[in-house]
Amino acid sequence: MTAPYLAPYLAGLRLAGRRVVVVGGGAVAQRRLPGLLDGGADVLLVAPQVTPTVEGLVTAGRLAWERRPYATGDLDGAWYALALSDDPAVNAAVVAEADGARVFCVRADDAAHGSAVTPAVAVEGPVTIGVLGGGDPRRAAAVRDGAREALQDGRLDTAARRGAPVAGVAVVGGGPGHPDLITVRGRRLLARADVVVADRLAPQSLLAELGPDVEIVDAAKLPRGRSMAQEAINDVLVDRARQGKFVVRLKGGDPFVFGRGSEEVAACLDAGVPVTVVPGVTSAVSVPGLAGIPLTHRGVAHEAVVVSGHLAPGHPSSLVDWAALGRLRGTLVLLMAVEQLPAISEALVDGGRDPDTPVALIENGSLPSERVVVTDLRHVAATVAREDVRPPAIVVVGDVVRHRWAT
Ligand code: SAH
Repeated sequence: MTAPYLAPYLAGLRLAGRRVVVVGGGAVAQRRLPGLLDGGADVLLVAPQVTPTVEGLVTAGRLAWERRPYATGDLDGAWYALALSDDPAVNAAVVAEADGARVFCVRADDAAHGSAVTPAVAVEGPVTIGVLGGGDPRRAAAVRDGAREALQDGRLDTAARRGAPVAGVAVVGGGPGHPDLITVRGRRLLARADVVVADRLAPQSLLAELGPDVEIVDAAKLPRGRSMAQEAINDVLVDRARQGKFVVRLKGGDPFVFGRGSEEVAACLDAGVPVTVVPGVTSAVSVPGLAGIPLTHRGVAHEAVVVSGHLAPGHPSSLVDWAALGRLRGTLVLLMAVEQLPAISEALVDGGRDPDTPVALIENGSLPSERVVVTDLRHVAATVAREDVRPPAIVVVGDVVRHRWAT
C-alpha cells in the first residue's frame, strides 16, 4: 500500500536580498536560476562546473559561484536551497543539511524527498501562476500553459480587461449551456463586459465567473408584461451602451436561431449603437450530437429541418406547414416543442410520417443534468407524460435516432 498523496502547500517566497543556495550548475540549475534572480535572491551557486549560460550569469555579476563540490555548511545563512546536482548522494546530503537547519529544500533528482517542490510558473504582470502536478511536471507545465493562455486572452482575469476598450453591444451566442461550448471570441468579449444581459438558457456558470463589478441583468426578470419583455431588453442594451459601457448580450445557443437576436441588433442600430455579432453553437445541432445522434447519416437522412414547436399545429399564428413536414423522410429537430408534442406528433402522422419513426427527447443537453429518452412518434405523447420530460429539450424525429452511438 502506498501512502496517501499529501498535496504540498503552495506559497510564494519573497526572496529579495535573501540567501538562496543552489548546488549544481547543469541544465536544471540553468532553468531555475532566472526565476530566483528575478525574485531578487542573493544566490550562492556551489558546483565544480556550470553550463555556459550559467557562467554568463556569473560573469554578469548576477550571482556568486564557488567552483568546487558541495561541502556541509554551505547552507549557512540560507533561507532556501536547491539540490540540483546530477549526483543523488550529493543531493541527499544537501537535503539532510537543509532539514537539519530547517531550510526548505528542493531536490531535483528525487522531488518527493525534498521539503519543497518547484511549481510550473508563469508570470503575467502582477499575476503569478504556480501549478504543482502531483509529481508530474509535464502535467503541471501543461496546466500552467493553459492558465497562462486563458489569462492572456482575458478569460481568467475579468478585472484586467486586457486589450483595447470596446464599446457598444455584442450579441453573443453562449452555446447549449456547458461553459466550454461558447466560442473563443464570445468568451473574450465576455471577459471585457461592463454589463452582461443574460438569458435563462445562457451558460449560467459563465456568469458566476464574472467580476463583482460587472452588472448582470437577468433578461428573464426584467419588469413589464410578457409581450413587452423584448422591448425592455432592447432598452437596457441601448441605455447601458449610451452610458459608455460595453454590453454583452449573452444568449443560449446561437443568437439567430429562435433567439430574437436580430430584433436586438436592429434596436441597437436604430439607436446608433455599434453592434458586434458573435455566433454560437446552436442547441439544435449540438445537443443531438452530444447525445450521440447525428442529424444526417449517409443513406438515412439527407436533410435536417429545424422547427419551432412553440405554437400548436393549426394555431392561427403558426407559420409551420406540419403536413409538409409529415411527408419528409429526413430528420426533424424540434425546439420549444415539449408542451405541444401530443398535437405535433399527431399532425406529423396525419401528414404521412410513419408512427414507428424513432424520436429522441434530450433534456438539458450538455449539462450534468442531461437526460435522453428514446421513443417513437406513436408513443411520444405518453412518454413525455410518463417520463415528465421538461424544457429545455430538443426533440429529434427520424431514423437517425437508430444510429445513436454510445456516449
Ligand atoms: N437560440 C437557441 C434556441 C432558443 S429557443 C439555440 O440556438 O440553441 C429555446 C429552445 O432551445 C428550448 O426550448 C430548447 O428546445 C432548446 N434548447 C436550448 N438549450 C438547450 C439545451 N441545453 N438542451 C436542450 N434543449 C435546449
